[in-house]
Amino acid sequence: MVSISLKHVTKTFNGVTANDDVNLKMEDGEFFTLLGPSGCGKTTTLRIIAGFYLPDKGSIFFDDQDVTNHHPNERETGMVFQNYALWPHMSVFDNVAYGLKIRKVSKDVIQEQVLEILDLVRLEGLESRTPLQLSGGQQQRVALARALVIKPKVLLLDEPLSNLDAKLRLEMRQEITRIQKKLKITTVYVTHDQEEALSISDRIAIMKNGSIKQVGSPKQVYLSPQNTFIADFIGQCSFIHGKVRKVNQYVDVKTDEGIKLRAPKSFNINVGDQAICAIRPESFTVNKPGEPFNVFKCEVLNVLFLGKSNRVYTRVGNLNILAELPIDADISTGKTISLFTPVDETVLLPFHT
Ligand code: ATP
Repeated sequence: MVSISLKHVTKTFNGVTANDDVNLKMEDGEFFTLLGPSGCGKTTTLRIIAGFYLPDKGSIFFDDQDVTNHHPNERETGMVFQNYALWPHMSVFDNVAYGLKIRKVSKDVIQEQVLEILDLVRLEGLESRTPLQLSGGQQQRVALARALVIKPKVLLLDEPLSNLDAKLRLEMRQEITRIQKKLKITTVYVTHDQEEALSISDRIAIMKNGSIKQVGSPKQVYLSPQNTFIADFIGQCSFIHGKVRKVNQYVDVKTDEGIKLRAPKSFNINVGDQAICAIRPESFTVNKPGEPFNVFKCEVLNVLFLGKSNRVYTRVGNLNILAELPIDADISTGKTISLFTPVDETVLLPFHT
């Protein structure tokens, strides 16, 4: 097992910058996810770690060793692709054994190690089937077994679950986490699915246009986003613009509509500056009389029943506010309601992000 460091990594394809001065460190044994919208450079970063691409600038270290110019075979990484990339004519056993055969491992050892890894991914008994005789989830387990059988130092997974249906995706998420925790292998996982990233990762790096925009634990990126892009990308948010009126450990902001907001101070800002307050839908409650801050008298535009809660679309002046409220709250379209959010759940963001 190793730690992985990317230092000032830049990669351009025909004028498109896929990695723009990327600096990252994945700790030994960590489950690290690269998250971001399509085309932001996640796969490029993964392929640079694997050695499939050479960066234009910058370097990659495994622990203290500079591996930038090392061939993929010399890096001891195992990779799982979105489309599984299994050999359709080969049995499950042969698909998994392939990496050991080309490393000239003896037959007996191959037999033992393949069966051991098939047991780990819960495919025991299916070794003589071909991939076409397996379900999508089972094929993904074969791809995982094939990556792991060579006992890599690093496991790289590129959107491994995106071809599976929703239920199977949830099951395989748990499987991947179970196996990763058991082997304690440093893992880099690429996805554009924020819920997937939040649920499986130790830490997440969120990318946009080839750059890293924030790195943190799932809780950090969800509860303390650093800009509107992160707040919007990781779950939904209402964004409320206003002018800063007072600054101490809290920042008071007033909107054009006259709404008074208070949020914990999270960066340097001055009276008179423009700011944005971001509020998650689930932070709102109804009817909290007497609160001096973060109260919105809104008109209900639409109510969507989600089973456990109602998603309530509202408007106050020019502001759109999205709230997730209990289904027993007395709310219907056209009504005026008073929404409240606690100061600690209001996130202050810079205006220009
Ligand atoms: P997705 O989620 O859609 O897979 P991504 O975040 O993984 O996207 P990359 O595949 O790393 O993004 O691509 C980043 C940018 O680099 C994109 O604009 C893409 O079109 C471009 N790019 C990636 N690989 C190549 C290539 N081999 N040749 C030319 N352009 C490429």
